[in-house]
Amino acid sequence: MVDKNIEKTGAPLVGVLSIQGDYDAHIKTLRKLGVSYKNVRDGEDLDKITHLIIPGGESTTIRIVSQAEGYWDKLVDFDRPVMGTCMGSILMAREIENPSREGWGMMDITIRRNAYGRQINSFTEYGKIDMSDKPFEMVFIRAPKIVRIGYGVQPIAWLNDEIVGARSGNKIALTFHPELTGNPVFHELLLNSR
Ligand code: GLN
Repeated sequence: MVDKNIEKTGAPLVGVLSIQGDYDAHIKTLRKLGVSYKNVRDGEDLDKITHLIIPGGESTTIRIVSQAEGYWDKLVDFDRPVMGTCMGSILMAREIENPSREGWGMMDITIRRNAYGRQINSFTEYGKIDMSDKPFEMVFIRAPKIVRIGYGVQPIAWLNDEIVGARSGNKIALTFHPELTGNPVFHELLLNSR
């Protein structure tokens, strides 16, 4: 449930899950956009926000913490706009591979963790996004791959014809890190989602 004051003012308050990972980079981007934000550290914080960002990091850690602290189910039921980058995209998925796990099921996708192998753990490349004709800089850090997209899921970003970003309603999953390259188009896309 969204806090009554937010419903009254209609101003966005973007929550950034701040347990572990690169949440500060997302906060810097939101500051640049002049948007109010809140570090989300527990289930109560989730009730107070209008939008949610799940940063890059280690999905195993967030899985353990959100289950132990009792807000895993709240994320499964979360109906407001969400953007997940890298680790975030993993947890948003319905199915996770390597190892096989359930995610929050925010999007009907299957995602494979650490899918670029051990040697090429991290790299920067220019890919395509549906919002612009210009090549888009993408940073991949021990990145996953979206290996299946289901009904109602629309690809929005590609690297060499592989899908690296997808959208389903008000949910956005990106396997790269737009928060590390200074272009805020995906943060704006999230803010424009209802
Ligand atoms: N490989 C990490 C995981 O599985 C994700 C990496 C990232 O978020 N940069 O959680």
